[in-house]
Amino acid sequence: MTIKRGARLDPGQVQDRRGGVGRGGGIAIGGGLGTIVLVAAYLLLGGNLGDLGNVVAPQNQGANPSSDITERCTTGEQARQNEDCRMVAYINSIQKYWSGEFAASNQNYREADTVFYDGVTSSGCGTASAQVGPFYCPNDKLVYLDLGFFKQLQTQFGAKGGPLAQAYVVAHEYGHHVQDLLGLLQNSGGQGENSGSVRTELQADCFAGVWAANAVDTGFLEPITDQQLSQALDAAQAVGDDRIQQQTQGYVNPDSWTHGSAAERKQAFTTGYNAGKPGACNS
Ligand SMILES: [Zn+2]
Repeated sequence: MTIKRGARLDPGQVQDRRGGVGRGGGIAIGGGLGTIVLVAAYLLLGGNLGDLGNVVAPQNQGANPSSDITERCTTGEQARQNEDCRMVAYINSIQKYWSGEFAASNQNYREADTVFYDGVTSSGCGTASAQVGPFYCPNDKLVYLDLGFFKQLQTQFGAKGGPLAQAYVVAHEYGHHVQDLLGLLQNSGGQGENSGSVRTELQADCFAGVWAANAVDTGFLEPITDQQLSQALDAAQAVGDDRIQQQTQGYVNPDSWTHGSAAERKQAFTTGYNAGKPGACNS
């Protein structure tokens, strides 16, 4: 999942809303004045939406004027040096793959931007904090990503990390965008092993695997190494409902699953990766 040196990036697919206190962001986090409302968003994790803590709505919801991603993330060389730019390359690659795939079946892929944020941000699905993890909001058709999540994935969820693990997270969210464009998000809902929610999430994992299988052909990336692949599979397992439940509540309750078990998530990504075709993800 190393970025190709010669790749030309399109930083216009990212909106940077970061910028905390002192950088003009004016984001306040404090007690008791409000709680997070995030509805109809599709998360990477189960999202313990009930215990998100108290967060005041951000005062600055627009683009971060100090952001210079559009200037500093234009080449593959920059993406090899810098995490922001690497994300841009992943996003470009993922969307290039899906737009080609849609075109091949005479459908129109509509690009979705990714919003980089830290702390809290508003979205078409409500106010979100970084605690919910990355998510896709069908109401505004944007992917929301706090880059601090990648650290959390390692420290809190015990994932090994690595570039393809990060790309998997982004590709999973774009998998929801693809589902949205195809009218498949309506199938989501409910809880439990056999719920529509679990099927939707596993399909997004599968779509992420399909993209990974085709990533080199998009021109942004070098071939995936065995080590990178195992890191992605490791990340998919780390965000399994059973793993997260065991860790956060000390026991596993399949009746409340929304994303699938570690084994299922790993299998879903593998299915997509081995097939390399989205048709393999019909569950
Ligand atoms: Zn998801």
